[in-house]
Amino acid sequence: MYYDEAEKLSRLEIERLQLMRLQRTLRQAAKSPFYGALFRERGVDPEKVTSLADVRRLPFTTKQDLRDSYPDRLLAMPQSEMVRMHVSSGTTGTPTVIYHTKRDLDWWASLMARCMHMVGLRKTDVFQNMSGYGLFTGGLGIHCGAEKLGCLTIPAGAGNSQRQIKLLMDFKVTGIHIIPSYALHLSTVFAGLGIDPRTLPLRIALVGAEPYTEEARRRLEAMYDMKVYNSYGLSEMNGPGVAFECQEQHGMHVWEDAYLAEIVDPQTGEPLPDGELGELVMTSLGREGMPIIRYRTRDLTRFLTGQCPCGRVHRRIDRLQGRCDDMMIVKGVNIFPMQIERILMSMPEVGQDYLIILERDGYIDNIRIKVEIREEYFVEDMRTLAVLQKRIASRLRDEILVTPRVELVEHNSLPKSDGKAARVCDRRGEGA
Ligand code: ADP
Ligand code: ZN
Repeated sequence: MYYDEAEKLSRLEIERLQLMRLQRTLRQAAKSPFYGALFRERGVDPEKVTSLADVRRLPFTTKQDLRDSYPDRLLAMPQSEMVRMHVSSGTTGTPTVIYHTKRDLDWWASLMARCMHMVGLRKTDVFQNMSGYGLFTGGLGIHCGAEKLGCLTIPAGAGNSQRQIKLLMDFKVTGIHIIPSYALHLSTVFAGLGIDPRTLPLRIALVGAEPYTEEARRRLEAMYDMKVYNSYGLSEMNGPGVAFECQEQHGMHVWEDAYLAEIVDPQTGEPLPDGELGELVMTSLGREGMPIIRYRTRDLTRFLTGQCPCGRVHRRIDRLQGRCDDMMIVKGVNIFPMQIERILMSMPEVGQDYLIILERDGYIDNIRIKVEIREEYFVEDMRTLAVLQKRIASRLRDEILVTPRVELVEHNSLPKSDGKAARVCDRRGEGA
């Protein structure tokens, strides 16, 4: 039933293990030039951490700290012990480097295999990984997990949709890893080829690496006739395999034998009670080469309360709302791109892509949204389209409290990216 003994742990056992591993991690981290100096400066003594609550007294680590430590000030072991490095995709600025020892990689692969097993993948499955390889962790990270589980693993990489579809069909692929924006787009390529993806043997998709809504998930499940499971991770904490949905599809279990998760107020850094939305802070509990303490992920989520019916007690986090940096302020109102996606993806006329453009008219900020419309609706007469345009704008206004300018565009006409989608284009700084 379970892949790993760790899935069966009770609350008490998890916490005991976490404390032991936290102490070990702190001792290990202290060997790196960065934490060695930081601990001395802040008077942190790993031996004085005697309860899990003591974690709150430890300093945070930020993305900037990682950048300042470039290229190797976070290494807790000689570089000769390292066997791989990854670099975060740099969605929000200069990338950061993460190193792994052989043991670190083995552990990561087993965490990943655990996630895949949890959602029902087995060694008999044929698994196609459609995310970019290279420095991005969604490539090798998922790949090694799938191999560890014993799946026939196809390293398809990103893009080249027609070849993806051919591989899916020729090798009767049953499991995939794909980012949400690309999965939505790929369905339009299927349509163009006149192939119904529901006729494929595909049954399980691991979908993550960028935010998406419950509405987008349901859409994907219906379009492909497969189960979609949310997958969360970040390079700083290895990559995928940090938190993953179980078959209940209600929140993602954080593997607490491997990570210590906290949710804090992004402004004050103070811990928030379960159920409240805040910034996820993560400590690695099993990494020897490059341990990271209290990393400020900038990702917004909440701990779900109550027991998961699946029986695992590893705590669950809610679907991510986005990054702190994703919040747009338009006419004094705070808006997250996912609020807009939720509305768009719930409307059957809307196609698979959209783009949010922020503009400034004189002193007034405006929000313009380009929305792809399904082929069958786009041929309608102008009047029907005008009505649809108004309806979308008014549904959006109810959600975001600002009336956007909605522009309907032909399906498949917005620019596509091979990696994470750029949902927002801020032009407010341009021109005068
Ligand atoms: P970058 O920060 O440059 O994008 P990573 O490749 O390490 O680099 O991406 C990790 C980030 O991707 C996370 O911090 C989070 O913002 C986002 N992410 C990953 N998985 C999900 C998910 N399932 N839902 C929402 N966001 C996700
Ligand atoms: Zn569960």
